[in-house]
Parts: sequence; C-alpha cells; structure tokens
Amino acid sequence: MNETTQPRSELFRKAAVIGSGFGGLALAIRLQSAGIQTTIVEARDKPGGRAYFWEKDGFIFDGGPTVITDPDCLTQLWDLTGHDMAKDIELMPVSPFYRLNWPDGVNFDYVNDPDELANEIAKIEPDDVEGYKKFLEYSGHLYEEGYIKLGTSAFLDFKSMVSAAPALMRYQAYRSLYGKVSSFVKSEKMRQMLSFQSLLVGGSPMTTSAIYGLIHKLERLGGVWFAKGGTNMLIAAMVKHFERIGGVIRLADPVTSIDTDGDRAKGVTCKSGWTDSFDAVATNADIMHSYRDLLGHKHRSATATAALKKKRFSPSLFVVHFGLKGTWPGIPHHMILFGPRYKGLLDDIYKNGVLPNDFSLYLHHPTITDPSMAPEGHSTFYVLAPVPHQGKLPIDWEEMGPKYEKRILDEIGRRLIPDIHDRIVTKFHYTPQDFGSDLNAHLGSAFSLEPLLWQSAYFRVHNRDDVIDNLYFVGAGTHPGAGIPGVVGSAKATAELMLEDLG
Ligand SMILES: Cc1cc2nc3c(=O)[nH]c(=O)nc-3n(C[C@H](O)[C@H](O)[C@H](O)COP(=O)(O)OP(=O)(O)OC[C@H]3O[C@@H](n4cnc5c(N)ncnc54)[C@H](O)[C@@H]3O)c2cc1C
Repeated sequence: MNETTQPRSELFRKAAVIGSGFGGLALAIRLQSAGIQTTIVEARDKPGGRAYFWEKDGFIFDGGPTVITDPDCLTQLWDLTGHDMAKDIELMPVSPFYRLNWPDGVNFDYVNDPDELANEIAKIEPDDVEGYKKFLEYSGHLYEEGYIKLGTSAFLDFKSMVSAAPALMRYQAYRSLYGKVSSFVKSEKMRQMLSFQSLLVGGSPMTTSAIYGLIHKLERLGGVWFAKGGTNMLIAAMVKHFERIGGVIRLADPVTSIDTDGDRAKGVTCKSGWTDSFDAVATNADIMHSYRDLLGHKHRSATATAALKKKRFSPSLFVVHFGLKGTWPGIPHHMILFGPRYKGLLDDIYKNGVLPNDFSLYLHHPTITDPSMAPEGHSTFYVLAPVPHQGKLPIDWEEMGPKYEKRILDEIGRRLIPDIHDRIVTKFHYTPQDFGSDLNAHLGSAFSLEPLLWQSAYFRVHNRDDVIDNLYFVGAGTHPGAGIPGVVGSAKATAELMLEDLG
C-alpha cells in the first residue's frame, strides 16, 4: 500500500496525553495544532485537574486556580491555528489584584495603578515607596531572565543549567524570596506583601528562591484576570478548542499502565480495558504516580521513583467552599488574610509538618466579578489555608476536616462576615486526602515538587524521560513548575521536544 492509499488515520503520528490539567490541555492543543493526532485520557469525569468544579444548590464552585496571570500564554494556544480565544471565553480584569488584610485591621489594596499603589505603600511605610520601586526593577530583571528566557525551555542536561547559572547568580537566586524582598523594604507588612506570591505556586517565601520575585512583575505587566463563569469555563473553552481542531478526549477512564517495548513507550491501557498504541506518550498526571504506578518499564520505574522519594514536595491546602445568602460589595475578589505569625506559621507547615493553630487565608469571592456564579442575591466563596502534606505527620482529615472548617469559617466571621454561620446555604471542604484520592497527588501535595532552587529547571522532572525517549512529562512537577503560566509554559517546552522528535 503506498502512502496515498493508506487509511487517513495512519498517515498521522499519534500521541497520548494522560491527564487534562492546564498543562495537559495546553500540550494537547499544541500537538493537535501541529497535526499530531492527539488523545487526552483523563481519570475523572470532568477535565481540568486541579481546576475541577462543582455545581451545588445553584452555586458554581471552582476547585482550584482563580487568579489568571499572563493571559497571553493562553491566547497563544488559539493563535496557533488562527483562532480567537475571545470568541470562546471572556477574561475579566480584576481590581484590586488582591486586598491584603492583617489581624490589626490594616488593609492594603494591591492595585496596578502606580500612583494609587504608591499611596497604599506610603500608608503602610512611607520609606518603602522608594524601596518598592527598586524591587519592581529587580522583579523585571527576574521576569526577563526567569520567565521570558528560561520559562518555556526544557532543561534536559546539566549544561543547560550551567548556562543559566550566571543570570541566577547575578540576581541572587540562591537567596530566599523573603530575604531578598527584605533588602528592599523595611516594613514587615510590605515584606509579606511582596513575598506571599510564592505560596501560590507551593513555595515558602522563607526558603523558595528569590527568582519567584518575578511573579510580581508578571502580575504588574499582564494584569490579574478572571474567566467569566469561573476557571471551569476557561477549561471548557480549551476542551472545545482542542476538539474543534480534531483532538479526542476520553473522560472517566484512569490510565492503569504506560505500556513499553524495551526502552520505548508503545501505548496506554485504561481501567476500563481500553488500550491503544501511540508514537509518543506524555503524562500530565502526578510525577510520582506516573513513574511508580503507571510506567510499565520496571527498571526505569524503580530508579525514577527512588529519586523522587528523596525530593521535597510542596504542602497541601485545605479549602472550604461556601454559598451564602446576601451579597458583599465590600469584599473584593481576592483577599489574603494574614495571621499573627508569618515565618513561624510557614515553618510549621513546611518544616515541622504540623497543623498550626493559627492560619493565613486566601479568600476567593467570584460573585463580586461575575454574579451569575450564584443564585440571585447570593454569593459564592472559597477560603483556603496552606496545610502540611501527608508525608511527615499524616492527619486524619475525616476527623479533623469538620473542626478545621469551623475554625476557618469562624475566622472569616470574626474578620469579615459576622453572621456567616446563619447565612450559609451550602458548604463543603476539600482536604489533602482528597488531593491524594481524586488526583493521585503524592502525599496529597497541592503543587507537586516544592519550588526550591535545587529542585528547579534541570533538577525537576525532565520534560522528556532520560531513558524512554518517547515518554514526556508536562505540568507542575516539570520545569518551570506550578501555577497556570508555569504549567502552560511547561507544555510549550514539552511540545517543542515532541514535535522535533516526531518529525
Ligand atoms: C486550590 C488551588 C488554588 C490554586 N490557585 C491558583 C491560581 O489562582 N492561579 C494559578 O496560576 N495557579 C493556582 N494553583 C496552581 C495550579 O492550579 C496548578 O499548578 C495547575 O493547575 C496544575 O496543572 P497541571 O497541568 O500540573 O495538572 P493537574 O491540574 O494536576 O491535572 C493532572 C490531571 O491528571 C489526571 N490524572 C491523574 N492520574 C491519572 C491517571 N492515572 N489517568 C488519567 N488521568 C490521570 C488528574 O485527574 C488531573 O486531571 C492553585 C492550585 C490549587 C490546588
């Protein structure tokens, strides 16, 4: 049979992507856009991974990401085939980006307007206005080096790490984010304001590299956005786009094996018994789960699992979702409610692995931006607290969950909504155990590998496996790491490798 008489499907190279998180979807769109026949295989009944959602009693609850930065990294996925993302999803600007609140009642509105922002800083500490300007400049350098130049490259060998080293040294990436921020501003509140962002990608400001100071510039430059209808609608738009260009998505069928033939991946097999062969397999599933539980190549599975066991994983999160009677025009979309301790709290969570008595909270109030996410006259919220992963002193969350939920809601009551308990129409919580059981997340970590300098770039899981050269990785466990821009950036790096390898 010559090429022209061959069945059409066999003319195309075929790839499988295991998992439909932001990284998996972005990779699948890139591959499909380049003419690789791509199938996503997802364990859960809905796509999105950490961006799963629930609809309860008329309220829409997004499970994970709510803050969208660098929208350009998403529009690129449509641009590849000349489509327009705006036709599939509306991104709405959010202002202030965040309101920060401390137990002494002080509020700080983190806005994008430079004069307003300078006023906010001056209210906290006039001397820090100048220091902030210098930090912004520093953050701009980090952004150029760490995000633009290195954020979408695959670090496959040590040489690539060495070539990045001079820039990392120049900007003192070996210092902690909090330490570096403290060299610019003197008020403790400003230090918290400029360092808490690393928590959004799973890193403690006390130990994570100063390179994560780039997030500040990323926010100032690209803004903070919210998808109309919730992040779940952005996921739905990505799936719609993927299917429109010919991609296939299989839901509710966990992959049970990445099948191999010698040092090559040859296909995947699912719980249902469905199996298919592929020219390349990429996994967006948890890195430990992929290597330990899925990879059929026993030797590689054992060596990679052993290496991963030595790494540090990010902590987890405890999330309380609640729908309330009433509306709160005074509560902005994103709030950080700092607790009485910062370093001590982070040490408890990251170092000691114990559940602290106090907490710093992130409060999400989507109905202030899009009231359609709750019944009329009602509001949707979620509040999350960083908590240790299950690796040090595992917590029985079945038992602890209801108590912890009440403590957190009481705190929101004390600080923002006094009659919160009387107004609750619906509520539920999500624990580290749920991250483990729903997402196969190792130790219930919310963000995969901790973003430490010695676990970055070359030292993260490589976008292409070192032994099985048609097995690829994408998502939070790979370079550059967690967060939507991070995993969408990893998809670009992985797609480039795959397209080169697939010819
Ligand atoms: C509560 C929360 C809030 C966050 N807030 C923000 C935010 O505001 N902004 C931001 O940028 N980032 C945020 N993040 C981080 C961000 O959500 C994640 O880093 C990112 O979504 C992870 O994407 P991923 O591509 O790694 O895949 P994941 O979302 O981890 O998805 C992996 C997918 O693989 C699937 N899978 C696992 N095992 C199998 C299997 N055996 N077979 C088939 N499929 C499998 C899973 O079901 C899942 O769908 C937040 C995270 C959390 C948890």
